[in-house]
Amino acid sequence: MSKNLNLVIIGLPGSGKGTQVEAIKNRFNLVDIATGEIARELADQNTPLGYEVREVINKGELLSDEIIFKVIRERIKTIPNDKGLVFDGFPRNLKQSQVLDEILFRAGRALDKVIYLSVPEEELEKRLKTRLICEKCGYSAFGHEKNCPKCQGKLVKREDDTSLKVVQKRIEENFKIISPLISCYQKRGNLIEINGDQPPKDVTKDIVKILE
Ligand code: AMP
Repeated sequence: MSKNLNLVIIGLPGSGKGTQVEAIKNRFNLVDIATGEIARELADQNTPLGYEVREVINKGELLSDEIIFKVIRERIKTIPNDKGLVFDGFPRNLKQSQVLDEILFRAGRALDKVIYLSVPEEELEKRLKTRLICEKCGYSAFGHEKNCPKCQGKLVKREDDTSLKVVQKRIEENFKIISPLISCYQKRGNLIEINGDQPPKDVTKDIVKILE
């Protein structure tokens, strides 16, 4: 078992993963690796890779394993050993979960727990329709704020949240993809299911109780 906590947080789009990562990160000395945010950073670049990534994101599809593995391997090298990790948005399929084990092993780490935030689909659709994200740091906001509560950046609509059809497709595709992942971690004994359909503070309380 590694010294620091190495976690994965999984859930469908809009389940509150980013919010919960923010809420537990400092308490457990974690650095977050949010692949959606990393993908959006890539999409902002005016390079062939940037165009490719933008197109995939706007269609509500997943990036190729090749791109995502490269990005994660590079990111993990920059994180000090005395910090734990929390992955948000990765892995999203069984192959990615196997590669994650390998990446962690090479970094002298091991996966401790997988937190699954479960939220009914109708609630997810409702949340995504009203979600704004921070232009600067990617924080998701579901309230009526104009500026990011974290860094005061401007809150804007995410391009792939604007159409209900794209939102539904993302939920549907992600559900098909994460279901085998949930069963796999359940069998391995490190899955913790948390009710994500409650106020964010209560979700955090449930997570902290389990991790402490
Ligand atoms: P998210 O913010 O997690 O909903 O991710 C936004 C977009 O980034 C997704 O629709 C994918 O195109 C891409 N993405 C994020 N994580 C992954 C991953 N683990 N594998 C492939 N694509 C990903």
